[in-house]
Amino acid sequence: MAIKQTAGRDALGEFAPKFAQLNDDVLFGEVWSREDKLSLRDRSLVTVTALMAQGLTDSSFKYHLMSAKKNGITKSEIAEILTHAAFYIGWSKAWAAFYMAKEIWADNSDTFDEKTAHENSMVFPIGQPNDGFAQYFIGQSFLAPLSTEQVGIFNVTFEPGCRNNWHIHHADKGGGQILVCVAGRGLYQEWGKEVRELKPGDVVNIKTGVKHWHGAASNSWFSHLAVEVPGENGRSEWCEAVSDEEYMGYSSSEKGTAEK
Ligand code: MN
Repeated sequence: MAIKQTAGRDALGEFAPKFAQLNDDVLFGEVWSREDKLSLRDRSLVTVTALMAQGLTDSSFKYHLMSAKKNGITKSEIAEILTHAAFYIGWSKAWAAFYMAKEIWADNSDTFDEKTAHENSMVFPIGQPNDGFAQYFIGQSFLAPLSTEQVGIFNVTFEPGCRNNWHIHHADKGGGQILVCVAGRGLYQEWGKEVRELKPGDVVNIKTGVKHWHGAASNSWFSHLAVEVPGENGRSEWCEAVSDEEYMGYSSSEKGTAEK
């Protein structure tokens, strides 16, 4: 996916249109966009180190530290990167870099960075805390409405360990739910059946009347689109929670056993 960059045109479009075009379309549009060759996270790591080596502490260094964070480099990782590089680059350059890094990763735990990294791994937004349904979930979930006309489509994101209660989608005619998995690793189970592990690209068709739950694996963020299949008088019936005991039983055997 090509990165859309406008910084060059914004700052120098009038004064140096060629430089602006090379910056936005070539450096970012082509080189940074070759994600199949090197991840954005790795490119950030290289860029931050290269800028630090020059002793830069200007707005471009700040921009690249912010992208590094956005691309999934955590607080403890940036500290380790700068510490390692300090030996090769120079102690005082590391000091200068640390002052800026400290500001950018201020008050952010590594958990926050994992959420950002998860959001960056998918094309849909995480949205807002799913407060309206919190009573039917264990752990924190997030909701981003994508389509609220014709067919309702919502991107639902679960933090690691988060899952919804057992529930049933009812309708007098039609109805039900389709889950389209978009990022991370998740779990799905129908009453009386084996738990099923979900990965991006998996689709789950849930007929009306089927008691089930869905959520994240214990060690991974997870997002799926929830598609509301149109029906008459559609409604959800919420039942008991999936206990820690039940859930941990599944997640300890997450690899391989799910499809058995
Ligand atoms: Mn459901």
